[in-house]
Amino acid sequence: MLNCYTTNHSEELIPILALTELELASKLTQLNAWQVNYLNSVAYQAKPGSLVYLPKPETGQLELVLFGVENIQDMWVWGGLPVLLPAGSYMIGNKLTSEQLQLAAIAWGLGAYQYTRYKKANLDKPKLFIASELNYQAIEHNVEAAYLARNLINTPAEDMGPAELAEAACQVASKLDAKVKIIRDTNELQQAYPAIYAVGKGSERKPCMVDMQWGNEQDPKVTLVGKGVCFDSGGLNIKTGQGMRLMKKDMGGAAHALALAQWLIQAKLPIRLRVLLPIVENSVSGNAFRPGDIIQTRKGLTVEIDNTDAEGRLILCDALTQAVEEQPELLIDFATLTGAARVALGPDMPALFANQDAIANQLLEYAQQEQDPIWRLPLYKPYREMLKSSLADLSNAANSPYAGAITAALFLQEFVPNQIPWLHFDLMAWNTATKPGRPEGGEAMTLRALFKYLAARYVK
Ligand SMILES: [Zn+2]
Repeated sequence: MLNCYTTNHSEELIPILALTELELASKLTQLNAWQVNYLNSVAYQAKPGSLVYLPKPETGQLELVLFGVENIQDMWVWGGLPVLLPAGSYMIGNKLTSEQLQLAAIAWGLGAYQYTRYKKANLDKPKLFIASELNYQAIEHNVEAAYLARNLINTPAEDMGPAELAEAACQVASKLDAKVKIIRDTNELQQAYPAIYAVGKGSERKPCMVDMQWGNEQDPKVTLVGKGVCFDSGGLNIKTGQGMRLMKKDMGGAAHALALAQWLIQAKLPIRLRVLLPIVENSVSGNAFRPGDIIQTRKGLTVEIDNTDAEGRLILCDALTQAVEEQPELLIDFATLTGAARVALGPDMPALFANQDAIANQLLEYAQQEQDPIWRLPLYKPYREMLKSSLADLSNAANSPYAGAITAALFLQEFVPNQIPWLHFDLMAWNTATKPGRPEGGEAMTLRALFKYLAARYVK
């Protein structure tokens, strides 16, 4: 069991009562005179974020925590508490539906996350009681998937290069009894995935392709693809210092694909799952690919390199080509692809592109239910014009400063036949500032919504 939870009913559980300013008066009627007097004497108003500890008058031991919130429906209300409360065992004192309790417990677990590879863990953490009516397994699978993604993304590029990321995929595969193949031989890579090779060849740390499979061949095929750029310097079109600062997170797409795969496999969804991770480091070197080069792709389309910093779509296009060769029933890719998506939607709102409305609409509904924000952007065909090259089939970067997230998605769409349902996520994979349940650093986004969608679709 994760150390931020307990199922031990015999421990003394301290209730946490969340309340809004408007609810304060009515909640006071449920408290005893001592407690009411205490709250009045400290002029407690239940302002959002304000905590008050009520001790037992006889012993001074903590008896009840009141917590001011803006909206009790918001799961993240519970996400900030693991870093605020003293060690102890707590229970939610509010009457919530089982769905709300489940989400509250997930938010708690996500808020208890610590990245401890280079810094000692704080082991004296508060624990949340999980009642037997809740599905603890489901909570744990969700939280562990998020931790996996966060740990991979938070690890500096020096310690999470192409070899280490591939190794992390192997570890996940062996833990879950999945088959995994890693293609890293230079000749083989150059033949099978020429675009991945072209992007990765400039680094001392060799590129590779991870191909993981799990499940029954007869079951519906679902394929996840994740962009694994372990560090993105921008290549010869080098980024600014500030633009490069967070680029250890440019493998966030691969981290998302692995994390969702782990969750789906742990939940034993009746699907044949495949995970394809194109993994490179985009480096500056004498052997790096250049602006003006024309490279081959697995599909056979040629691409003129306009900008070496638009490398994610190049490695993804070979992985997508590989994916569609076996005609999966559903193809999902994750990528920290464009700054334009962040300009449009900000860091917390992943952009979704989809070639089938029904799937997108359903997913957006689950996103709302699961409080896992996603916003759809259009695959607006007329902008395909912007990717024209006079010398090759395509240019890797648009000849216009507008609609960068859409043109990147349209580039990818060149490699996905219309009849294959496809979801493309352009996401940040990073919390720019700490918010309740979401500490600054690597973040898993869209996974709760996707898991819910896939479980609804495939679990009979
Ligand atoms: Zn780049």
